[in-house]
Amino acid sequence: MDHLPIFLNLQQRRCLIVGGGAVALRKAELLRQAGAQITLLATELHPQLLSWHEAGTIERWLPYAAKDFADLLNERINTFVLVIAATDDAVINQTVHDVAQAANIPVNVVDQPALCSFIFPSIIDRSPVIIAASTGGRAPVLARLLREKLEGLIPQHYGKLATLAGALRAQIKQALPDITVRRRFWEQLLRSPYADQLMQTNSVDAKHIAENLLTHYTGENHQHTANKMGGEVYLVGAGPGDPELLTFRALRLMQQADVVLYDKLVSDEVLNLVRRDAEKIFVGKTQGCHSKPQSEINRLLVEYAQQGKRVCRLKGGDPFIFGRGGEELQSLVAAKVRFQVVPGITAATACAAYAGIPLTHRDHAQSLIFVTGHLREDGEFILNGSLDWQTLSKPQQTVVFYMGLKNLAQITEQLRAHGMPDVMPIAIVENGTRVNQRVISGTLANIVQQTENNDASQPSLIIIGEVAALHESLQWFVPELIENSV
Ligand code: SAH
Repeated sequence: MDHLPIFLNLQQRRCLIVGGGAVALRKAELLRQAGAQITLLATELHPQLLSWHEAGTIERWLPYAAKDFADLLNERINTFVLVIAATDDAVINQTVHDVAQAANIPVNVVDQPALCSFIFPSIIDRSPVIIAASTGGRAPVLARLLREKLEGLIPQHYGKLATLAGALRAQIKQALPDITVRRRFWEQLLRSPYADQLMQTNSVDAKHIAENLLTHYTGENHQHTANKMGGEVYLVGAGPGDPELLTFRALRLMQQADVVLYDKLVSDEVLNLVRRDAEKIFVGKTQGCHSKPQSEINRLLVEYAQQGKRVCRLKGGDPFIFGRGGEELQSLVAAKVRFQVVPGITAATACAAYAGIPLTHRDHAQSLIFVTGHLREDGEFILNGSLDWQTLSKPQQTVVFYMGLKNLAQITEQLRAHGMPDVMPIAIVENGTRVNQRVISGTLANIVQQTENNDASQPSLIIIGEVAALHESLQWFVPELIENSV
């Protein structure tokens, strides 16, 4: 270890920052968050620093003349517990280092590791939980990348969990005097589906949940307790395919699930991010085979949850957009199974973004309609008979058909019959956001021919409206590049 990571208590302690520019501002912000009393030694102040000074957030500003700098610093140095140099003047930075070192005060000269007795880590702040990452000053960008990864993995509300645990600590210690039993209790509480719930609820409910577990708790009978607590279902939107389009929350729940039930639309890359030892059950439909009936899926969800498992129901796109998520939740409610819902990026917004087609545009479309092209899930493609073709054929709007490819000929026929002009642009986005994405462009008159010529396949989304023509000039996503770079 080149450096020892420690966490300094700077509450009400005097710290010195030399410099008054943007870099000094960043350091001042950090010290401010840590409760330090900040003195700035600088000829000029960044407007933000100036306003903090005027508001009293910065305790003191000492302007200096270059010739008096060393004297001023020497005179004051012993009143500080920490010193930072953030100027672009090499002589000043060196002086700050020398004076602080001579006085044995920790010093950091920004971006000059050789002049630092301590360095700043990348910080993940879920106060009171704080994680610091460092590459010893060798590769700050790498530390930042690491931080980004951790930011995604660690729930935003994690701090709340620590605060709650802190508040209950004395009570639990008294109730469970044996340290091994106590440790097991904490492990069980923090690993259980309840930990997640604790982070979502207000602190009174959270305290109640923890106290309930304490009442149920017996050192020998963990599994029994877990069963009694019941499992939970996470209805998670997995997005259109590109794993980078998952939400942090989706990823976290995928990684803590015991069982995952997934559809055909969930891409392999997304599925790879599920917890390795989770049981994975495919409930979608493959070529020629019928999918599990919805009632069977509903039954599985309830059964697994009742066994005390954390069940992740992973669906392509968003679970509430043509995903039958509502029906699944209704059966969970009937069986009194707890659940949470995580929205996903739906095919319409994802495909539009990756095809360079703004779904609304001040000049072309002031409203947007999502519509399903067929009603049955059993492989038969029957055109949705309840569609209001009059409305769908209107100008100045964008209409997005999900599950419409097989019925494209009928769809275009109806739109023409209801007055949509033949020149209306249409784009078919096939495998949107994935490495094999294709966009097939055409018009109301020729799109059927175009899809036949290009042998379009599922999953495909149909975008109808003047905005579809913008693909030509706004396309940016080059799937082959992505493929080659992997
Ligand atoms: N819940 C999903 C939609 C399920 S319906 C969502 O919110 O996206 C299935 C239809 O979604 C497919 O027939 C297709 O029209 C569309 N779709 C889903 N993913 C797609 C993708 N990656 N590219 C193109 N269309 C997609």
